[in-house]
Amino acid sequence: METVVILGGGPCGLCAAWELSKSGKNVIVIEAQSSPGGLCKTTKYKGFNFDLGGHRFISKNDELINKIKVLMGDELLVSERISAIRLNDREFQYPLSARDILRQTDILFLSKCLVDYIYQCLYKKLRESPDTSFEDWVINRFGKKLYVTFFKDYTHKLWGIPSDKLSSDWAAERISLLDLWDVVLRLCGLGREAPRTYTKKFFYPKQGIGQIFEFIAREIKKYSGSIILNARLKKLLLEGNRAKGVIYELNGKDEVIHCDWVISTIPVTDLLYKPERGGEYHNVSTAVRSLRYRSLRFLNILIDQSDVGRNTWTYIPDGKYIMTRIQEPKKRSPYNAPYGKTSLMLEIPCSYNDEVWNMQDHLLFNRCIDDLSKLGIDIKDKVIDYFFTVEKHAYPIYHLDYKHHLNNLLSRVDSIENIHTCGRNGLFRYIFMDRAMEMGFEAAMIIEGKWNKKV
Ligand SMILES: Cc1cc2nc3c(=O)[nH]c(=O)nc-3n(C[C@H](O)[C@H](O)[C@H](O)COP(=O)(O)OP(=O)(O)OC[C@H]3O[C@@H](n4cnc5c(N)ncnc54)[C@H](O)[C@@H]3O)c2cc1C
Repeated sequence: METVVILGGGPCGLCAAWELSKSGKNVIVIEAQSSPGGLCKTTKYKGFNFDLGGHRFISKNDELINKIKVLMGDELLVSERISAIRLNDREFQYPLSARDILRQTDILFLSKCLVDYIYQCLYKKLRESPDTSFEDWVINRFGKKLYVTFFKDYTHKLWGIPSDKLSSDWAAERISLLDLWDVVLRLCGLGREAPRTYTKKFFYPKQGIGQIFEFIAREIKKYSGSIILNARLKKLLLEGNRAKGVIYELNGKDEVIHCDWVISTIPVTDLLYKPERGGEYHNVSTAVRSLRYRSLRFLNILIDQSDVGRNTWTYIPDGKYIMTRIQEPKKRSPYNAPYGKTSLMLEIPCSYNDEVWNMQDHLLFNRCIDDLSKLGIDIKDKVIDYFFTVEKHAYPIYHLDYKHHLNNLLSRVDSIENIHTCGRNGLFRYIFMDRAMEMGFEAAMIIEGKWNKKV
């Protein structure tokens, strides 16, 4: 029987393991954390559930949706979101609506947006204006005023670098609007097919997004696959252009598994750990050093009142506040908090080992409570308890020259015949959970010989 080692037990790795264990392969998942789910894990605490950032399951793939519906049965809810953005101490519906903008902004602001947009259109006709950075991409399509109002501060806060140092690839992947006319059509409710940002309804399990992956993990075990938790990849065992096995660390001891295939969903920068010396050594190690991730700390607050507001989440672009989003998990599932209580979860961007990453819990908590109070959310006297969760590899950073380094790294991985790297951090690509799951199934099909595209 062929043995497949799967590195990482997030959505991508678990879906690969589900498919392969079902088809009779000897599947072993190596997962660094104490529970599976990856970025889609849910932490349970005193009857409350907290995801790592607000998650929702949306997909255009009916086969995938059906699989999850069958798996989850009554445990899968259809929820509807209300989201907002706080700008200059005013709250706008998000995605923006024409009525809200007309109600909350003045004619001067709207005229400035229009003048800037017309100027940008004329400028583009007279001079070449390439989409190099995120800033270029947005200004070229929406004009400067809209860029400064809606994108500049939020992007800087989220990524920790100014928008002119961020590649336009991120905008191209994430901003589904085509230009100002597309915005205007959508503001008037006349948009064509709704992109992800506009989707109101979504699937969400009763007990947090992680419940999907607890169910998948159960399936894997049912088909005799194994998931080794608290186990971290230490080294790939390479021989020529093949991987013979892996060394992982468990309870301070090195363990070895020999295998026929490796599917890796861990950060691609950690896969070629201490890369072997040789012709490609320099390119690989430069790539590993150059590709960086943005981290997040999550403040999870248990609150002794039934509701905080009406929003599922609120974006906070203003740089004077430490968080980028405030989530009320109960708005996704009523089971996320005990009856009569609620909770908040704050997403706080940081970089590994920076000031925010290292800030003591009580200091960061006090800062957040202060910011919440300035935003009109006064919960200080209602806090039952709080705790932090953290994710080092939350977002792959598309800095201006990331692609060159990424290609160097991926081509080295690709040269190893029996390794597939996939998933969000496996490909250093800003994808959502549904795509990560599809990639897991596709990687499994490659190994089963049912798919010949290398992922
Ligand atoms: C704040 C936030 C909000 C999001 N919201 C949504 C949303 O609403 N909807 C949506 O569809 N997607 C959302 N996403 C994206 C979604 O979380 C990811 O697309 C998805 O989790 C990617 O799955 P993956 O398996 O590729 O990677 P991951 O979930 O990152 O899993 C990788 C796994 O590898 C493990 N690992 C890492 N290193 C090692 C090692 N050396 N050895 C062993 N194991 C290792 C990790 O512990 C992890 O479990 C969000 C992401 C963030 C950060």
